[in-house]
Amino acid sequence: MANHEIIALRAFADNYVWTLRDARRAAVVDPGDARPVIDYLEREKLELVAILNTHHHADHVGGNAGLLARWKVPVFGPDDERIREVTHRLKEGDRFTLPHFGIEFGVMDIPAHTRSHIAFHGGGMVFSGDTLFAVGCGRLFEGTPKQMHDSLSRLMQLPGETLVYCGHEYTVANIRFARAVEPDNAALRDLEIHAKKQRDQDLPTLPSTVSQEKATNPFVRVREPAVIAAANRYAGKTLNDPVSVLAAIREWKNSF
Ligand SMILES: [Zn+2]
Repeated sequence: MANHEIIALRAFADNYVWTLRDARRAAVVDPGDARPVIDYLEREKLELVAILNTHHHADHVGGNAGLLARWKVPVFGPDDERIREVTHRLKEGDRFTLPHFGIEFGVMDIPAHTRSHIAFHGGGMVFSGDTLFAVGCGRLFEGTPKQMHDSLSRLMQLPGETLVYCGHEYTVANIRFARAVEPDNAALRDLEIHAKKQRDQDLPTLPSTVSQEKATNPFVRVREPAVIAAANRYAGKTLNDPVSVLAAIREWKNSF
């Protein structure tokens, strides 16, 4: 493994701009704001080599132009004209090598939060944007429960130890909801203790892992009897398939 590390730069209230860096260079994922990135790169004397975008929302791409004004770098993102700055428009199955770092990333189409949302996976990591969160999933702005179920299922096929870097620090609130769905889930109880300790010290709760999500995330656990039973109680009827279960708990969470 190359000699790099990943830094969580903060933007706005709860966004993370995931920043891969070594001693001299950096690449950023979803820079919603250029300012914290420029401040960090200047302070650390790093040169930007690439930008990655998972989806078109302003809190993920709003800093592209400001960074490109200083560093002429490639921008890897979805094939969606709503992100003007993308130089490499990517789709399911595409692969590319991150400049300088040499990490090969594969691209997955993971629509639901937005219709053109993609994930980047490689080097033991996945950048899941606003589709998969720790213990949660994104809102369905441009997609269906079926699409979210399919997108999450595909992410869960990555190796269990894959580190999950998502777009927001929502973990503690997500756990509160997940515990309403599954009060007897011991993994959730343990994670709540850990996540609160991290936040009390103003530290990120992320990255998660694919294994952790399988153990704690109600939107992934839609085949678990306890999750199905809770969804049935919320819906007031018997739900017969995982997509209907996901739809019910997504609706429940929207008003939680
Ligand atoms: Zn978003």
